[in-house]
Amino acid sequence: GEGINKIKPEYVRSFQFENKLLPSTWIVVRIDGCHFHRFSEVHEFEKPNDEQALSLMNSCAVAVLEEFQDIVFAYGVSDEYSFVLKKDSQFYQRRASEIVSVIVSFFSSMYVRKWREFFPQRELRYPPYFDGRAVCYPSSEILQDYLAWRQVDCHINNQYNTCFWMLVKSGKSKCEAQDYLKGTQAEKKNELLKQQFGIDYSMLPIMFRQGTSVFWDKEEKIVVANDGGAVGKSAEENFCGTL
Ligand code: ATP
Ligand code: ATP
Ligand code: MG
Ligand code: MG
Ligand code: MG
Ligand code: MG
Ligand code: MG
Repeated sequence: GEGINKIKPEYVRSFQFENKLLPSTWIVVRIDGCHFHRFSEVHEFEKPNDEQALSLMNSCAVAVLEEFQDIVFAYGVSDEYSFVLKKDSQFYQRRASEIVSVIVSFFSSMYVRKWREFFPQRELRYPPYFDGRAVCYPSSEILQDYLAWRQVDCHINNQYNTCFWMLVKSGKSKCEAQDYLKGTQAEKKNELLKQQFGIDYSMLPIMFRQGTSVFWDKEEKIVVANDGGAVGKSAEENFCGTL
């Protein structure tokens, strides 16, 4: 310690590294609720899909699009949301840690702020938080593949969870339900739902099966697709429509 006056700011700053995202690529920031398995239990979410919880996520995503104008598209399912920034965005000079952190913190704040609106009778027991990461996609085609991947994930998880919770609600233990479903193919799961529970999978709400797209339309209004049961397009199709 030579005294405060001797510290050179350039020297201290030199330890920070530049984490700039590749120029001229689509930046996707994906956020995901931390330990939402527990959060959803503590807050008594309806299983497998709590519609109010999904609507709260969607409402927070709308707020994110309104706040950060460089975000052109978003896709959400369960406790996750992917935000797509336009290709030529200069938001925070494309520094990853700043971009991710502002989106994650804004989303988390909104989630807490809007909680009461979606769960008027239920106390928020503890503060939820989200993690986030940024990935660059070099072309709109690859970005569409990314969106298709998230949407397939949504479908597979939803199909599994729908079967799992029907089995549990019909009296099986969680372990039994898990064993019962081990290795079953998609066809088998749809059959199971039809034959044992009289459920036609394709008739379940589209928001549960396909997730939700949020984007600006040509009239510069925000569209929330699949919320409320409208017949929807795929996430990729919705994204293409914004190009
Ligand atoms: P991690 O911290 O690693 O993300 P996690 O517990 O959040 O762990 P995820 O794989 O992100 O695990 O899964 C989120 C979980 O949150 C789901 O498995 C489900 O149990 C619950 N969940 C999220 N949204 C809803 C919803 N709308 N309705 C019912 N359950 C939900
Ligand atoms: P940026 O988004 O670039 O960080 P900023 O407006 O947050 O912009 P900072 O350089 O971080 O700017 O400065 C924070 C500002 O917030 C201060 O200049 C001051 O005006 C205000 N501020 C923060 N904490 C306090 C406080 N405890 N009391 C009064 N003012 C405060
Ligand atoms: Mg996670
Ligand atoms: Mg999670
Ligand atoms: Mg998740
Ligand atoms: Mg700052
Ligand atoms: Mg500041």
